[in-house]
Amino acid sequence: MTTELVMNVSMILKADLHIHTIASGHAFSTVNEIAAEAARKGLEAVGIADHGPALPGSPHHFYFPCLKFIPDVIGGVRIFKGVEANILGRGEVDLAESLLERLDFAIAGFHDHAGYRGETLEEHTEALVSVMQNPMIRIIAHPGNPRFPIDLERVVKTAVETGTALEINNASFIGSRHGSEGNCREIARLCARFGAPVAVSSDAHIAQAVGGLDAALEVVLEAGIPWDKIVTRDLASTLAFLGLEK
Ligand SMILES: [Zn+2]
Ligand SMILES: [Zn+2]
Repeated sequence: MTTELVMNVSMILKADLHIHTIASGHAFSTVNEIAAEAARKGLEAVGIADHGPALPGSPHHFYFPCLKFIPDVIGGVRIFKGVEANILGRGEVDLAESLLERLDFAIAGFHDHAGYRGETLEEHTEALVSVMQNPMIRIIAHPGNPRFPIDLERVVKTAVETGTALEINNASFIGSRHGSEGNCREIARLCARFGAPVAVSSDAHIAQAVGGLDAALEVVLEAGIPWDKIVTRDLASTLAFLGLEK
């Protein structure tokens, strides 16, 4: 590994935008527990991204507008309110535009058992690149998932065109979505080559995993992605990426 060649002390990520609370139905911590863990680890910002309503066990549509009841800052940590929406088909996700626009951000991704019927690489790619045209979809979750193969170069080029960040998801390297690693490394290399924006996220399903980003960060840095192309470096870069600067 060449990590020691490329990492330095300034390369510490202070935001993590892909975190599930107990509301996802298969995750185990509350917003307050997540904020406390984030503060303990020195994070400046977290993003609450529970699964969209199409995934069994996930919250009802009504949950998402109620995220407004969560304070914007808990224990010094900025809390961004979002969703990990399910891609249903071409240009279509499982949360209405009228609800998406009330959130700070939306991640979208493919999940089994959540209404998506595509079967081929061509269908997955078409669905994904059309969803990326939606300016409210800011991040694509775990695009390296081998369960939903895509035309990686076309997706990366679309990310450049639309400004949608492609996620390098830490969980993909430590037990989720087996077989992702090669795809994730290739996506990272293509992002470096074409200059696509990248989000590095934990996909935490329990507070202890919040801010666990080391495996993904190593892949990003090894690929040669410039530091400023990571849109979730810290609070300031995340605010700028989400268009939430005052
Ligand atoms: Zn996911
Ligand atoms: Zn997730």
